[in-house]
Amino acid sequence: MPEPETVRAFVLERLGGVPRLETVDVPQPEAGEVQIRMLAAGICHTDIAAPRDAFAAPLILGHEGCGEIVSVGEGVTELVTGTRVVLSYRTPCGSCRQCLAGRPEVCAHGLDLREGRSRWRGEAIPGLLSLGCFSELLVVPAEAAIPIDPSLPVEQAALVGCGIATGVGAALNCARVQPGSIVAVWGVGGVGLNVVAGARIAGAGTIVAVDPDASHLELAAARGATKLFEPHDAAGALAELGGVDVAFEAVGHETAFLSALDSLAVGGHLVILGGIAPDIRVSVAPRTLLRKQLQITGCIYGSIDPQQDFARYAGWCADGTIPVADLVSRTITLDELPCVFAEERAPGVRTVVRFS
Ligand SMILES: [Zn+2]
Ligand SMILES: [Zn+2]
Repeated sequence: MPEPETVRAFVLERLGGVPRLETVDVPQPEAGEVQIRMLAAGICHTDIAAPRDAFAAPLILGHEGCGEIVSVGEGVTELVTGTRVVLSYRTPCGSCRQCLAGRPEVCAHGLDLREGRSRWRGEAIPGLLSLGCFSELLVVPAEAAIPIDPSLPVEQAALVGCGIATGVGAALNCARVQPGSIVAVWGVGGVGLNVVAGARIAGAGTIVAVDPDASHLELAAARGATKLFEPHDAAGALAELGGVDVAFEAVGHETAFLSALDSLAVGGHLVILGGIAPDIRVSVAPRTLLRKQLQITGCIYGSIDPQQDFARYAGWCADGTIPVADLVSRTITLDELPCVFAEERAPGVRTVVRFS
């Protein structure tokens, strides 16, 4: 058995702490696993929020990435060395009640934290959302590594693994946006912009983007948003439209949640997909839900099936159906990550680590 390889990874030692580059030991893959050399990984809001919101530490951060398979464990026949893959942080168990009912997108164990395969200071260390993409090398179950078209630039391919999957999937799979419908998206950052792209693919008639940042609104318009508002102007304008059919809350804030809920037309649907902090509470009148026959849905990972949807979405990125080049606002090295991470708050578009 070859020795584990020592590589660099971005480690959060304790909750509330400041993550830093450390060396970790990465073993060879065992049965059913693959070892991946990371090529690119995006900094997503969930990474920024991890020191505050993660359930446990230590952790290797990063959950939106693209890499190349360097070795495969026993029994892995679908994947071979050299395959370009995007990593999925949700791997349905296949045996819980939800999976057996044909609903793997709500697998009861899909987000359970797997024991880490890398070792730090002699102990196993898990990755954020069981991945830990800010590591030069990592070992994951084969089903978490999904082949995609290698012609897509790696910085763009990385985003398929979270921002694009979450946003496009929310529109197509969770909300099932209907042709001609009126859609509004609160927060058009790395996820919300992809909700706009998904709503356009679905044929929405009116797509409203709500964001305080003019540059984000411009990016939303480039994806097919037909009306652009700053948050304080949205309510009146949406009431004039007669309310919206589907509202997406991609900010993760109580004000956005309540504004999005208020904007709904009769029979409307509110989809929550922002990285909302665990201590946020809101007050809602159930009678309003009853009278207007509203639905509220929490949507994790765009309710996608990664095995099917990653390749499809990557294909749409490659042919321009999903605009992606302008989502990558800057590319940095792993060495630059600690400094950049300390400055980032809630990045609208993505900073991507390019591994050399
Ligand atoms: Zn993410
Ligand atoms: Zn399951």
